[in-house]
Amino acid sequence: MAGESQAHETHSSSPHIVIVGAGFAGLAAAHALKDAKARVTVIDRHNYHLFQPLLYQVATASLSPGDIAQPVRSILKEQTNASVLLGEVTGIDKTARTVRIAGGPDVSYDYLVLATGARHSYFGKDHWAKAAPGIKTIDDATRVRANILLAFERAEVEINPERRRALLTFVVIGGGPTGVEMAGAIAELARNSITRDFRSITPHCARVLLVEAGPRLLPVMPQALSDEAKAALERLGVEVCLGKAVTNVTRESVAVGDEHIAAKTIVWAAGVRASEAGQWLDATTDRAGRIFVKSDFSVGGRSEIFAVGDTVAFKQGDGTFLPGVAPAAKQAGAYIGALIAARIAGRTAPKSFAYSDFGNMATIGRRNAVADLGRVHLKGFIGWLLWSVAHVYFLIGFRNRLGVAMSWAWSYLTYQRGVRLITGRDMEIAMPLEEAA
Ligand SMILES: Cc1cc2nc3c(=O)[nH]c(=O)nc-3n(C[C@H](O)[C@H](O)[C@H](O)COP(=O)(O)OP(=O)(O)OC[C@H]3O[C@@H](n4cnc5c(N)ncnc54)[C@H](O)[C@@H]3O)c2cc1C
Repeated sequence: MAGESQAHETHSSSPHIVIVGAGFAGLAAAHALKDAKARVTVIDRHNYHLFQPLLYQVATASLSPGDIAQPVRSILKEQTNASVLLGEVTGIDKTARTVRIAGGPDVSYDYLVLATGARHSYFGKDHWAKAAPGIKTIDDATRVRANILLAFERAEVEINPERRRALLTFVVIGGGPTGVEMAGAIAELARNSITRDFRSITPHCARVLLVEAGPRLLPVMPQALSDEAKAALERLGVEVCLGKAVTNVTRESVAVGDEHIAAKTIVWAAGVRASEAGQWLDATTDRAGRIFVKSDFSVGGRSEIFAVGDTVAFKQGDGTFLPGVAPAAKQAGAYIGALIAARIAGRTAPKSFAYSDFGNMATIGRRNAVADLGRVHLKGFIGWLLWSVAHVYFLIGFRNRLGVAMSWAWSYLTYQRGVRLITGRDMEIAMPLEEAA
């Protein structure tokens, strides 16, 4: 665990705000506290902040991990009242007002903000995780990238047709934005770019399936955009299976209803579960583990404890819950930061939180996207342009924003994928195919 900065020691009499999680919500809260007469400590289990919306681009070898992640220390280096601790939080003592950190001393707080996000949910089938990894962290994305690239490498030399077919079959489970984007990106990789590097694999050798248990893709979007997303994926060669639940997953196959599909690369994009923050606080949660928070994001009658972002269930004025998306996490994090800053300064609290919803988007391959902006619906290239501009814009705080934009432009113009590196393989997956099975 890293040490605390000078700011901690020099203003030790000022209130101490501990923020757990340096994701969108946690960092927005920290930034909103930059002028507060307080010590702010941000704790995260990773030393980087991750731009999760572009993880699938790392998983499909379009961007490098460094393009979408930046050290938390460098993000907060100008904020003199903030310190960063690298550590895994394992619990909270509400009475002693301390945060427990694995292998480190407890950290005491005056105000606590829990912004620990969400993780995959396998709906009780956690043993599927090894065969069907999801993408939530840099490690997940590089692991999936390695799986995809290794499948092509092995298919190139495989002479048994059945095994070759299994190697070139990619199944994505879950038809939300992540599943749609992932399936489209794998199809483009398989059909348009990677096959040029191989001698025995042609664009039509690969089979990409997207399986969704519900009746349509992108259920949060209007039906017309769901239909458009399906049609665009099919044009890319993705087989979209709707209304079919996955009943089993192994390293060899996926069972969709009664059908067993032999596939060596399976990606999970079907469900999320909140972090363990609800258990730490013994708070009331929904079925996905999200903490029910009050209108000021405080938890369980404690005015000094707040939770925010994907780890909470926040009921809005219209009765709907705040969506689990980056803009919502950022806005809510900024609100909590401003609220705490006002309390410390003895100012009036900001008026109640209202989410400015700019809409939903999902990209499908290199030149197509659907965007639901309320009354305006965009699709095709215009949708993709908007998606690209919005994502590059929201990479704010990432010093390499321009670099990422250039990588995209290069990959767009040339069909080149510069980061087809197979790295970080654990032994199990790196073994020859027969042994890994
Ligand atoms: C693949 C993918 C694609 C997505 N695409 C989009 C998109 O296109 N548009 C969009 O708006 N949203 C998208 N999202 C959702 C968006 O990323 C989340 O809504 C957002 O990240 C939530 O922010 P957060 O701060 O609540 O959590 P996170 O950003 O997940 O941050 C949580 C932080 O807490 C840390 N943490 C967790 N537990 C502990 C612990 N015990 N100890 C210490 N640290 C801990 C984590 O390391 C992490 O840094 C996507 C998500 C994924 C996974």
